[in-house]
Amino acid sequence: MPTWAQKELQGWGRVLRSTAEVARPERMPVIAGLLTEGTASVLARGNGRSYGDAALNKGGQVILTSRLDRLLDLDEVGNWVTVEAGATFGDLVRTLVPRGHLPAVVPGTGFATVGGGLANDIHGKNHHCSGSIGQQLDWMELRTPDGQLHHLMGDDDSDLLRATLGGVGLTGVIERARIRTERVPSNAVSLKRERMGHLDEFLARLREEQDRTPYVVGWIDAMARGAQLGRGILELARPSEQGVTSAPQRARRVPTDFPSLALNRWSVRVFNELYSRRIPAQGRTELLPYEKFLFPLDAIHDWNRIYGHRGFHQFQCVVPFESGAAALRLMLGLIADSGMGSFLAVLKTMGASGRGYLSFPRPGFTLALDFPNGPRVADLMARLESITCDHGGRTYLAKDSTLTPGNMRQMYTQLDRFSEVLAQVDPLGRMASDLSRRLQLRGAAIT
Ligand SMILES: Cc1cc2nc3c(=O)[nH]c(=O)nc-3n(C[C@H](O)[C@H](O)[C@H](O)COP(=O)(O)OP(=O)(O)OC[C@H]3O[C@@H](n4cnc5c(N)ncnc54)[C@H](O)[C@@H]3O)c2cc1C
Repeated sequence: MPTWAQKELQGWGRVLRSTAEVARPERMPVIAGLLTEGTASVLARGNGRSYGDAALNKGGQVILTSRLDRLLDLDEVGNWVTVEAGATFGDLVRTLVPRGHLPAVVPGTGFATVGGGLANDIHGKNHHCSGSIGQQLDWMELRTPDGQLHHLMGDDDSDLLRATLGGVGLTGVIERARIRTERVPSNAVSLKRERMGHLDEFLARLREEQDRTPYVVGWIDAMARGAQLGRGILELARPSEQGVTSAPQRARRVPTDFPSLALNRWSVRVFNELYSRRIPAQGRTELLPYEKFLFPLDAIHDWNRIYGHRGFHQFQCVVPFESGAAALRLMLGLIADSGMGSFLAVLKTMGASGRGYLSFPRPGFTLALDFPNGPRVADLMARLESITCDHGGRTYLAKDSTLTPGNMRQMYTQLDRFSEVLAQVDPLGRMASDLSRRLQLRGAAIT
């Protein structure tokens, strides 16, 4: 049985931190014992790529899954891959692509684990076609806090499945999963980049392309204002028949925390301006290996240190198509006026709603961007969250560090059902996180 040791953990944004007892098991059978032996609150943690406090558990216990990362089976006929929950999407891409397969849903970092992916019901750049990971799941095995193992079928509509997908680890520890792969003809995508002059053009092109292009993502200059508000670059990608020879990505590290002043409105504005201009007016097409396309930031390890020791917040919302243009215009205006916007923001469309009670995806436009931590950021985040609520949208718990219980309740209308399932599956309230306490995910009475 692994031993517990005190450790300070942090979210990827490096603003929220807390100390817990951590254990890092190497074999799956010990999970049941780790869950049942104590009385402290407990939580699973993958690779800590959630930005806020979803994977923190102050004063409790945290089970690190990073050594439980075996790839167990690839069904090349049925197109399924079976893995332990600590396997990362990066490892899957690197192992499967040479065999002509790609996980059907992959987030924007290869460092996220499959367990963390299911617990946040993650989406990729192809959400409008493939949905979120819960829609590409054959089954998963969940160890609930009483030590029982549950085999949850992906096409089942059980309460436990719906509370676990996107349930931020509060139903137990996901041990294994079988998820869908897609066949890919080569190791590369053909990627076309187009310049977008303003928000209306961007939103219209995103809507047009969602019916015909598998991967669609926009990079938006959140510092632009006036007639250029919402300008940026649209990326359209599809699997390429022709591959590329590419040396494995050489990881670079950020050697130290950048001084907080290095990132200011002027340096960000110049970067965004240059980034937009590097694409010629007629657009540009190139072949890019999947890894580079899917995980653009992973080549620089610890890139979160560029925001300095104060860290940063990420805001990600999804707003319905009907109210989306108005909501985004308000948000981008507010961000540009604040001067706090960071490097390029991500704008894309989402397709079907997720199946989990707390799944983030729903049809609409999603906007994501970072804000360096500072005295005015809490107010800006609160205003963005309130615009999101007013327009019928929601923010993403994987990125969240500032939401309030009231706004959570308004955004996630199935929260009561989620809390009821938690009360049944975990009546003693053993599974908990800093996020579950902050947002009262078990209900206001028991947190
Ligand atoms: C650069 C970057 C790009 C990103 N791009 C995207 C994107 O495109 N789409 C998207 O959807 N998300 C994206 N994310 C968010 C990321 O995919 C999620 O936060 C994901 O959950 C991180 O996985 P992790 O293994 O690091 O989980 P952690 O951050 O360690 O944990 C996340 C949650 O999962 C729970 N959990 C982890 N493992 C288990 C387990 N085995 N059983 C039960 N619960 C578990 C934890 O308790 C916690 O609540 C991005 C994050 C970064 C840093």
